[in-house]
Amino acid sequence: LTARDDAGVLGRVRVAVRLRPRNSEELASDADFADCVELQPEVKRLKLRKNNWESETYEFDEVLTESASQKRVYEVVAKPVVESVLEGYNGTVMAYGQTGTGKTFTLGKLGEDNIAARGIMVRAMEDILAETSPSTDSVSVSYFQLYMETVQDLLCPGNDNISIVEDPKSGDVSIPAATAVDIRDQRSFLELLRLGEAHRFAANTKLNTESSRSHAILMVHVKRSIKGRHDGEEGFLTENGQASSLVKSFRPPIVRKSKLVIVDLAGSERIDKSGSEGHMLEEAKSINLSLTALGKCINALAENSTHVPFRDSKLTRLLRDSFGGTARTSLVVTIGPSPRHRGETSSTIMFGQRAM
Ligand code: ADP
Ligand code: MG
Repeated sequence: LTARDDAGVLGRVRVAVRLRPRNSEELASDADFADCVELQPEVKRLKLRKNNWESETYEFDEVLTESASQKRVYEVVAKPVVESVLEGYNGTVMAYGQTGTGKTFTLGKLGEDNIAARGIMVRAMEDILAETSPSTDSVSVSYFQLYMETVQDLLCPGNDNISIVEDPKSGDVSIPAATAVDIRDQRSFLELLRLGEAHRFAANTKLNTESSRSHAILMVHVKRSIKGRHDGEEGFLTENGQASSLVKSFRPPIVRKSKLVIVDLAGSERIDKSGSEGHMLEEAKSINLSLTALGKCINALAENSTHVPFRDSKLTRLLRDSFGGTARTSLVVTIGPSPRHRGETSSTIMFGQRAM
């Protein structure tokens, strides 16, 4: 047994690293340079080059190369979480990394003209819809962005600064004022994602900011009813098919509620705070606050600490009931190949390492 054999069990964070292929600019400008990382997927290792002759080696639960398909990424990163949500547990899938490394490609790609390109959100919904039935179950979706410690409803423009409510007894976290839309088919889900994305773009234009400066959060609520039945139904039928008098107690249907949270985190790149002032400085501080708070919670979980500091930011307050405990959590850290960004790539890798 290795130390990582418990990876992916309830309460632990499963961490994958995904390398994006070189883009056209990198193909041209970095042609004479090696990628700053070398992946060894068969042994789940990644080597970060320090220079031409030295490198550092890191292990992950999964190492996804630049040629890993979206299907494979879904299966490795998200499918176990989705299955657990269908069984009644909460779950979280998040992407962390520098802007431009593929977080949105991994999670949010719609793949309208190429279904092989579809990302985790679309594939997760496909599995959820396939496993549930509109006659007994319900699937509903909320979509919002978290910007400078405020929650903004992406399904209802102007519904800003809405509260996160925590049930003191059950510990359930909810956003009662957020729009929740019932989803019955994939087409309406795609429509809703497009709408949310358009609203996000409009809101960010108005706020004069980039989408990489906020967290986008999709919440899928799954409510399943497990049919009520007569105790001993099968065992006590009389010969003519009627239930015998032994059949008395009827159990009402049990309703099981769970949720899947998919988080496209703000870009993790260090923002030069010294050069920023006013709004930009506040924005940078706020991103730093939430990503640091997230990192602390993940570390606390990895260390089995009894105190997980969920209260430190809106992001972690929101994730409280779908993170650790009986929830299943999966983190994909995304990196690019360019040696120019080795510093950022290194700190992304370290964020992933600390979660394990
Ligand atoms: P982020 O959300 O982290 O800022 P994006 O998902 O927007 O990054 O990706 C940046 C660019 O790289 C996009 O044009 C995207 O299509 C492309 N890209 C990212 N990951 C991949 C990948 N694995 N394969 C092909 N293209 C990718
Ligand atoms: Mg993005």
